[in-house]
Amino acid sequence: MSNTLRASRTASSWISTPLSRCSFPSCPLSDNGGGGGGGGSPDIAVVAEKGQVACRDYPHSRHLCLKFPFETTPHESYCELCYCYVCDSSAPCGLWKLSHCHAAAHISDWKCKRMMKQQATVKK
Ligand SMILES: [Zn+2]
Ligand SMILES: [Zn+2]
Repeated sequence: MSNTLRASRTASSWISTPLSRCSFPSCPLSDNGGGGGGGGSPDIAVVAEKGQVACRDYPHSRHLCLKFPFETTPHESYCELCYCYVCDSSAPCGLWKLSHCHAAAHISDWKCKRMMKQQATVKK
C-alpha cells in the first residue's frame, strides 16, 4: 500500500508544495526510510495561541486583562477578575490608581517592586 503512495511522490507536482511534505509525521510524502511506521495521531493542531485566552475566565494581572487591553484602555480600568500585579490582591488595591494599575510583568521595574513587596510580606 505504501509503495503506491511513495510512487506517487515522484510526480513532479509535490515539488510545488514542499511545505506540505512535513506537515504530518504520518504523511506518506515525509518518508524517512521507514515504511509507514509513522504511527500516531496527527494532533499537531495549533495549540492555544499564547495561553492568553485562559485569562478571560480566570483571575489575571491587570496587564493581561482582555476586557480592558492594557495597551488601549486606561490602566486604572479593571474587570472583576483583575488583580494587582504588585499586591497579588484583587483590583483595585489601596494604591491602584496611584501607581499599581500601571504595573506589568514586562516592565522590569515592577518586577523589582513586586519582589520587594513579597519579601516584605513574608516577614513572619
Ligand atoms: Zn481583567
Ligand atoms: Zn497593588
